[in-house]
Amino acid sequence: MSITSYIMSTDNRFESKKRKKPATTRSLEFLSPKTRKMAVEFLQECEKSNLKVIITCTYRSQEEQNRLWQQGRDSNGKKIGPTVTNVKGGKSRHNDEDKQGNPASTAFDICPLTDSGKEDWNSKYWNTFGIIGRRIGLEWGGDWISFVDKPHFQLNDKDREEELKTCVN
Ligand SMILES: [Zn+2]
Repeated sequence: MSITSYIMSTDNRFESKKRKKPATTRSLEFLSPKTRKMAVEFLQECEKSNLKVIITCTYRSQEEQNRLWQQGRDSNGKKIGPTVTNVKGGKSRHNDEDKQGNPASTAFDICPLTDSGKEDWNSKYWNTFGIIGRRIGLEWGGDWISFVDKPHFQLNDKDREEELKTCVN
């Protein structure tokens, strides 16, 4: 072992450069910088339109993604009940990380709230949220055909590629 790698393996000042990866979080700090900026803009636009909303998920670890994928499937991956996701760990935009391996999700999920602040999954405003997200330049899961995912917003492919090439979180 070289001296440098020995020091790095024992000195927690180096360790601390790597952020802890939460299994799942709704904190905006785990979004990539560009996604975070757009999420803030999204929340501001919703507020201007008097729409109450919360962010329910930003980053999710690969392990957590795999755990979700396993729900409703047997050990061979065969569907045996209702499933919650079609993608395995590492394939979801929620699993995105920067070059250093720090969480840098390029997607976030929302849930509309009622006036009294309760989660409102049957909200009649889903499409309005979609319009707001699109206007900001986000891709909306409600526009997808094969797997409609109304709570989901993400960077478009081009923005994501650029962002993950350069961003440091
Ligand atoms: Zn999502």
